[in-house]
Amino acid sequence: MKRSMTCIECPKGCRLEIDADGARLISMSGHECSRGSLYARREIEAPVRTLTTSVLTRGLELKMLPVRTSKPIPKEKIFEAMAAVKSITVTTPVKAGAVVATDFLGLGADLIACRSLGKP
Ligand code: SF4
Repeated sequence: MKRSMTCIECPKGCRLEIDADGARLISMSGHECSRGSLYARREIEAPVRTLTTSVLTRGLELKMLPVRTSKPIPKEKIFEAMAAVKSITVTTPVKAGAVVATDFLGLGADLIACRSLGKP
């Protein structure tokens, strides 16, 4: 199946024309460097995303703490990850970069605090 996508690996944003058979990349054009071909291959064969969201807090200065995964996780796991995030409540002060959940969903990525948060 032929499709188009925009490479997001650099600000140039090359328009990539892709021919894929399911999750197998057959051919591509429009990329101006090897990063573009790697991006297209990853998007077709095993797309990943960094999850950025917020978790609830209790007894801290804000009601929500912004978090992100320490590395991209499979795109197909994003909804499962969002559901799991709803079960997390942070109750102790955290520093930016602190691990909120280790090996989140067993995907090898930690859930990391994006900012520091203390007591009110
Ligand atoms: S293909 Fe290369 S030059 Fe084009 S947007 Fe992607 S990284 Fe940038």
